[in-house]
Amino acid sequence: MEKKRVYTFGNGMAEGRADMKNLLGGKGANLAEMNLIGVPVPPGFTITTEVCTEYNLLGRDYVVEVLKPEVEKAMENIEKLMGAKFGDRENPCLVSVRSGARVSMPGMMDTVLNLGLNDDAVEGIARKSGNERFAWDSYRRFIQMYGDVVLGMKPQSKEDIDPFEEIMEEVKHAKGVELDTDLDVADLKELVKRFKMAVKERTGKDFPESAWDQLWGAVCAVFDSWMNERAILYRKMNNFPEEWGTAVNVQAMVYGNMGVTSATGVAFTRDAATGEDIFNGEYLINAQGEDVVAGVRTPQQITLEGSRRWAKLQGISEEERAAKYPSLEESMPECAQELIKTQQKLEDYFKDMQDLEFTIQDGKLWLLQTRSGKRTGAAMIKIAIDMLHQGYIDEKTVLKRCDPEKLDELLHPVFDKKILAASKPITNGLPASPGAATGQVVFHADEAEAWAKDGKKVILCRIETSPEDLRGMATAQGILTARGGMTSHAAVVARGMGKCCVSAANGVVINYKERKMTINGKVFNEGDWISLNGTTGNVYEGNIPTQDAELGPDFLELMKIADKYTRMSVRTNADTPHDAQVARNFGATGIGLCRTEHMFFEEDKIIPMREMILAKDEEGRRKALEKLLPLQKKDFKGIFAAMDGFPVTVRLLDPPLHEFVPHDEKGQMEMAKVMNISYNDIHERVESLMEANPMLGLRGCRLGNLYPEITEMQTRAIIEAALELKKEGITAIPEIMVPLTGIVYEFKAQKEIIEKTIQQVFSEHSDSIEYKIGTMIEIPRAALTAHKIAKEADFFSFGTNDLTQMTFGYSRDDVAKFLPLYIDKGILKQDPFAVLDQNGVGQLVNMAVQSGRAVKPILKCGICGEHGGEPSSVKFCHHVGLNYVSCSPFRVPIARLAAAQAAIE
Ligand code: PEP
Ligand code: MG
Repeated sequence: MEKKRVYTFGNGMAEGRADMKNLLGGKGANLAEMNLIGVPVPPGFTITTEVCTEYNLLGRDYVVEVLKPEVEKAMENIEKLMGAKFGDRENPCLVSVRSGARVSMPGMMDTVLNLGLNDDAVEGIARKSGNERFAWDSYRRFIQMYGDVVLGMKPQSKEDIDPFEEIMEEVKHAKGVELDTDLDVADLKELVKRFKMAVKERTGKDFPESAWDQLWGAVCAVFDSWMNERAILYRKMNNFPEEWGTAVNVQAMVYGNMGVTSATGVAFTRDAATGEDIFNGEYLINAQGEDVVAGVRTPQQITLEGSRRWAKLQGISEEERAAKYPSLEESMPECAQELIKTQQKLEDYFKDMQDLEFTIQDGKLWLLQTRSGKRTGAAMIKIAIDMLHQGYIDEKTVLKRCDPEKLDELLHPVFDKKILAASKPITNGLPASPGAATGQVVFHADEAEAWAKDGKKVILCRIETSPEDLRGMATAQGILTARGGMTSHAAVVARGMGKCCVSAANGVVINYKERKMTINGKVFNEGDWISLNGTTGNVYEGNIPTQDAELGPDFLELMKIADKYTRMSVRTNADTPHDAQVARNFGATGIGLCRTEHMFFEEDKIIPMREMILAKDEEGRRKALEKLLPLQKKDFKGIFAAMDGFPVTVRLLDPPLHEFVPHDEKGQMEMAKVMNISYNDIHERVESLMEANPMLGLRGCRLGNLYPEITEMQTRAIIEAALELKKEGITAIPEIMVPLTGIVYEFKAQKEIIEKTIQQVFSEHSDSIEYKIGTMIEIPRAALTAHKIAKEADFFSFGTNDLTQMTFGYSRDDVAKFLPLYIDKGILKQDPFAVLDQNGVGQLVNMAVQSGRAVKPILKCGICGEHGGEPSSVKFCHHVGLNYVSCSPFRVPIARLAAAQAAIE
């Protein structure tokens, strides 16, 4: 059978279903499903995502040819249901053409509305609607959109002039008006004429009159938009593969701009920022969809309650609100009631918070779209837990619904409460995306990027944002806009990024040219500090410090559910009692990596540490180690106490030695004085420590094997600390870890020293504790000979940072030179130092676990490289049977959720 490429829907029937998102895209699948459950949706059809792939492989001509019969048939269906004809002069049927990937990519791809209009059809529409202005306004919008999207006339940079905007300004100027809505039919006709001339001038061709030519142009443009720069960047940021492709949805147009009985809007079945179970949304009377999101006019609230809340935040009186910005419940009560019923129906059906687009045409409600709404991390958790309690979903669905990476937002800082209490907001806007941010004002996205690269914190301030600002938004601490609503581009994108955003702030006037903004009269130049509270919408002058977030009961419940289903435990990488405590509060059940070399950077330890490294013989080293012993012991006691009752993996020293010695004359002089030797001696010693490739030099257990007294001292410090704590009733469970083993004999030699020291300390104290001795697996040779090492080791901990370095042969320290280019070119899909390379490095991990456990079934295996807190890597660790993952404290909740997801998937 010939492959089906087009799926129709309309009037309660559909060829597709909600679970066909991969083929029909999210939008297409849900449009189909809405028909099936009796929600009023304009009829249309969806061209599958597979055609996008065909388009990219086989080209435009092939795709148009192969699609023709199915598309023509599907168009007949629309015509039948709408009682109008596509391309007809008397009774034309107009359509929209939109993209729709399997997950929504807001604003990333292009849309064409009002398609099918031409010099004849516009007259037909004018007669049919009895509204000539509406017809000509639609026509000029269509030419503009089609010119931008299909004919490539959209300005590519800030310097480019937009021919349509320019003409629009000229016509308005000539007429002496400010708003588009002040233009009459004659002006609109003039616009159409001049827009078409601009098209001819720019493209060398006439604007296409044939509706079918228009349609194929638009369909192909949507496919092209899958490969535009914005879409590619968005996919990269979200790890979406190119192979997915986008579907194309062609749908009969309905109009929210047919006069005062028409409207258009967007709504959420629950609050996308807080997760509260409150239906909310915005609408505009006599407008088209893009007017609501573009932030040009101030949108009104759908519900009365929401409207009152909004007015309060904006400082608008009840009288003014009711007169100027009434809710839909007040202005169109019947439609509002139907919308409220429909949103409940959709949420009940999809069992998730929905993001809806609707249009009211002449008093009749149409739903244009429903999809799972984007939400903040806090809303994600609240909605999932509420829906569990409300009986919509079960615990496993709660876990699946929550994106581990989004927990990150909740763990982010909030303002220092005391300083905040003493600060007075300079203005207030909509709380578009929660969190706190402080930074220096910049006005352009590329500036935000450049400043952030220099390590500066910036707040991107815009009149409104557009998809072009994406990169700048991603690097800014927060976003402030002068216009827009809760569903404007800035708000939706910031929430998706988990970035603090205040939109439509009152009294903000931005002057891009002069790079300044005034807020209620006060001037802020580029570089001045401001602070934003995305939870309340408040804006403050200056830099308000932030503090750690507090985690609420919903978060704790989510974590409890995660722990119920998980198999792996989650430990933390921590080198200080404070970090250990933070991680324990986040639910870490042990330390998977304590890097002891990090403990030596502190003031009191760096001098004896340098003494140890620079000593010329064993005697000198032992003298320095004696000074270090009590200091190390104190550190270990602090960490063990914070992890009372949980295992703590302490890794023996693994420093590139040259990092610890002074390279400047002043520092070397100081060491000469401390060690009572000549400056020249010190200088020579420092020089002799230089290595051509320190990452592959005197590191890890090579150090302990060269200087066994270091291993002795560290072991003694660990065991004495544990024994002393035992007396205080604190249970320390040390796991002593040998770094960088490549040959089993390296480990054996270290283990011998460790064992001997432990027994000696035990006998000195006439006491003992439980302990383990194991090794890191971070050299490919160790993975390849894991069966030999496992015979000797109690545990393996995969150091996937070094394992990645050595498997790829990429220096950890120098990879930035070529990695971005590799990712750009698609040679690498991801940074292997951030996301575990499952096919290469992962195979070494898998093999080592298998062969190690073949000789020692109880071998404990974990991971302590950076990958231990990255969700896809955590899931891989589950599948290869690791006992635990270990990650930085703030990633512990993320790893717990990812581990639970792996267990139930
Ligand atoms: C590793 O190599 O993965 C590891 C955890 O050790 P470090 O990063 O300290 O080399
Ligand atoms: Mg390492």
